Amino acid sequence: MKITYYGTAAGEGWPGIFCNCEICQEARRLGGKNIRTRSQALINDDLLLDFPPDSYLHSLYYGLDLGKVRTLLFTHSHSDHCHALDIELLREPYSHTYTGQMQIYGNDAVQKAISDACNGLGSEEYRFQYHLLECNQTITTGGYTVTALRATHDPGERCLFYRVAQGDKSVLYAHDTGLLTEENLQCLSEQKGKLNLVSFDCTCQKDRDGKYHMGFADAVEQKDVLLRRGLADENTIWVVNHFSHNGGWLHEEISRRAKEQGMIASYDGMAIEF
Ligand SMILES: [Zn+2]
Ligand SMILES: [Zn+2]
Ligand SMILES: [Zn+2]
Repeated sequence: MKITYYGTAAGEGWPGIFCNCEICQEARRLGGKNIRTRSQALINDDLLLDFPPDSYLHSLYYGLDLGKVRTLLFTHSHSDHCHALDIELLREPYSHTYTGQMQIYGNDAVQKAISDACNGLGSEEYRFQYHLLECNQTITTGGYTVTALRATHDPGERCLFYRVAQGDKSVLYAHDTGLLTEENLQCLSEQKGKLNLVSFDCTCQKDRDGKYHMGFADAVEQKDVLLRRGLADENTIWVVNHFSHNGGWLHEEISRRAKEQGMIASYDGMAIEF
């Protein structure tokens, strides 16, 4: 199994799209891994996690082949995760080569956004099928077993995060969310096997949160929780991801702190095979 991070920033991007604060200026000056686009990751080459406005940029400059994606999982409808307008471009005359129907999963807020963008849902010519997911629901799609978990995030919608498994390998992609709940842990404990890779929200970096996002200290604590509950083990790969300029740590600093805790700080273009 392979995960590739295409976008590793929070909603404003880093540097923030309209921001010239000190740390955004520093990110612009240093470039490289300090330049972070909006949230997106790919499992292998055919299961996509979220579809931000930077998806097109990811396809142009980061080598993301959207034509190969068969399954798209949406976490929630916030603009850094759901750019519904481009979903219409799957159909003719915008794409001449996408075959079959993309299987798209998410909540009702994402469903409405895509429906509004595409004059309804699900007709064959649009080349996608939309499936509503409930919390703690497990489905199989495209050779993957996907479990949707309830995120501690915007209470205005049913935000989800995902466990994705293929064969005996699995990933927990926990964005955007605060601390894992007892309900989350219970649901995870009903799945087979230890988590091979866990990707934690780390939007707030130096600050704690837990109710909407996580800071670095929250992520470190959650790592311990998963280990104590036997959901992960000494072979699990730990990633922190989804960073905001308000968190205050450029790549070198978050990377160093993550390493000290046996974790990896994501950057745009980072790929991990396991
Ligand atoms: Zn976000
Ligand atoms: Zn800034
Ligand atoms: Zn969000």
